[in-house]
Amino acid sequence: MADARAECSIRVLCRFRPFNDAEVRRGDLFFPTFQGDDTVVVGGKSYIFDRVFPTNTTQEQVYNTCAKQTVKDVLSGYNGTIFAYGQTSSGKTYTMEGKLHDEQQKGIIPRIASDIFNYIFTMDENLEFQIKVSYFEIYMEKIRDLLDVSKTNLSVHEDMNRVPYVKGCTERFVSSPEEIMDVIDEGKANRHVAVTNMNEHSSRSHSIFLIDIRQEHLETEQKLSGKLYLVDLAGSEKVSKTGAEGAVLDEAKNINKSLSSLGNVISALAEGSKVHVPYRDSKMTRILQDSLGGNCRTTMFICCSPSSFNDAETKSTLMFGQRAK
Ligand code: ADP
Ligand code: MG
Repeated sequence: MADARAECSIRVLCRFRPFNDAEVRRGDLFFPTFQGDDTVVVGGKSYIFDRVFPTNTTQEQVYNTCAKQTVKDVLSGYNGTIFAYGQTSSGKTYTMEGKLHDEQQKGIIPRIASDIFNYIFTMDENLEFQIKVSYFEIYMEKIRDLLDVSKTNLSVHEDMNRVPYVKGCTERFVSSPEEIMDVIDEGKANRHVAVTNMNEHSSRSHSIFLIDIRQEHLETEQKLSGKLYLVDLAGSEKVSKTGAEGAVLDEAKNINKSLSSLGNVISALAEGSKVHVPYRDSKMTRILQDSLGGNCRTTMFICCSPSSFNDAETKSTLMFGQRAK
């Protein structure tokens, strides 16, 4: 049998958001130059990705070029992960969620929610589907259930097939796009209640939305399952070496460690050889193990600010993306 990783595809896409008001007021320089549809030049260096989305790209364009196919893949029995990487305020949440209830500005997750059901309608009517979703976050290596605030420190276990999962995490059965959106709204509301400053909190924790789809053919009894992890990562910015101490420094080290272990896993997978893939170095990479490597579809969004003010962070974000190529 071929190496499972030969089956695994990793796509890296880079998206630049438009200038925000503060950047305009400050009179920042517009930093990137876009070439073709896969290259961006920043500070005299070219970075090539599977696709580069300039600032005027719409949510619909992003979805159609990147995530639409993932829905079909998951319904065909593949596992998948889509995640957004970048410094705070670079557009990660805008890309993953967008404005949840706005037709134009809704992001990938709400579009996936409707497309799953659109696609199921076109499939064999003898197929019976069971769809369940979970929503949790990882902060300082602790897993918190966003659908049950009493669960603040869940652990990662392995099932009979040695597939890691979050033990005891709430699972909600859903049968329409609206039900998926209700679960997201509920999880987001819980997340807000638990913290004093949501912006700060979301920049320091990873949020993970899981859609698990099982299907069974009513005549042949053939079964198929696929999982899709949708991950909005903690901000990748470096905390200034002089400013941070105590708890803030611990937090920063922790975020750096979990993001770099993700980077290590992705680049080991991208090498495609028999190199050791260090899944066990963080909770997130353990949970994502069978949806990053093996029979899977992985998409990584590299989110960037276009402002010269953020040039150092932008370069380091672009470098992170390049490691996966
Ligand atoms: P992050 O999640 O990386 O911290 P956000 O997604 O919250 O960043 O984006 C920061 C701000 O920029 C938000 O107000 C968001 O609406 C806006 N924004 C981000 N990307 C875009 C985009 N492509 N088009 C328009 N506005 C955007
Ligand atoms: Mg965010």
